[in-house]
Amino acid sequence: MAFWQTKSLAEMSHAEWESLCDGCGKCCLHKLEDEDSGQIVFTRLACEQLDLASCRCRHYSERNRLVPDCLDLHQPDFSQFHWLPSTCAYRLISEGRPLPEWHPLLTGNRYSTQAAGKTVSRFARTAQAEDDPEDYIVAWLT
Ligand code: SF4
Ligand code: SF4
Repeated sequence: MAFWQTKSLAEMSHAEWESLCDGCGKCCLHKLEDEDSGQIVFTRLACEQLDLASCRCRHYSERNRLVPDCLDLHQPDFSQFHWLPSTCAYRLISEGRPLPEWHPLLTGNRYSTQAAGKTVSRFARTAQAEDDPEDYIVAWLT
């Protein structure tokens, strides 16, 4: 069996952990949280460091310095992963669910997420200072 079927997130090596990311770019979209309910909604406004063509972070190793509120998923409390998109491998694994058929670990093709149309490339835009995030809320990610 594959490592993601036998290991918990906490048991994975760094390389295994990193390979789980399908490169969708969804977690790099700006999010809004309802103060009362705690509900998270996504917008289609992307972090300035997200390359919208490849859906990869331009400066991944420096991301926490460049974008202080970039969330580090390497955290012990996996129950907090509920805010991640429903297709995110970290959320799926933390909930005991299988990876989608287009995931690169299953296809063997690192571009299969893009080929399946599961990245944010087609609809996201880099956030501008004048943007009101509430005008850009997307419903399908939650
Ligand atoms: S939402 Fe999950 S799978 Fe998609 S880029 Fe973010 S961490 Fe990777
Ligand atoms: S700094 Fe990079 S990893 Fe962090 S939110 Fe922005 S694009 Fe995503």
